[in-house]
Amino acid sequence: MADPKHRQPENAPGKYYVDDTCVPCHVCVDEAPGLIQYAADEGHVFFARQPVTPEEIRAAENAMKGCPTEAIGNDG
Ligand code: SF4
Repeated sequence: MADPKHRQPENAPGKYYVDDTCVPCHVCVDEAPGLIQYAADEGHVFFARQPVTPEEIRAAENAMKGCPTEAIGNDG
């Protein structure tokens, strides 16, 4: 389970976040390409912005479910 105390610092403020257990593996970027992006050093990903529309929320939830390391959290 993702740990909100270990959020990647680049995450946009809001309930969805990536923590420091991201590998990265690219699964979530495929699920939510408009929301999640790679950090500059490509060592992890983060939420560049929070989902707003129902489609974006669905994409964020799918990204969270698909993450093999459970690095994506939802504090909502
Ligand atoms: S699916 Fe999980 S481990 Fe893979 S890039 Fe996304 S947050 Fe990182």
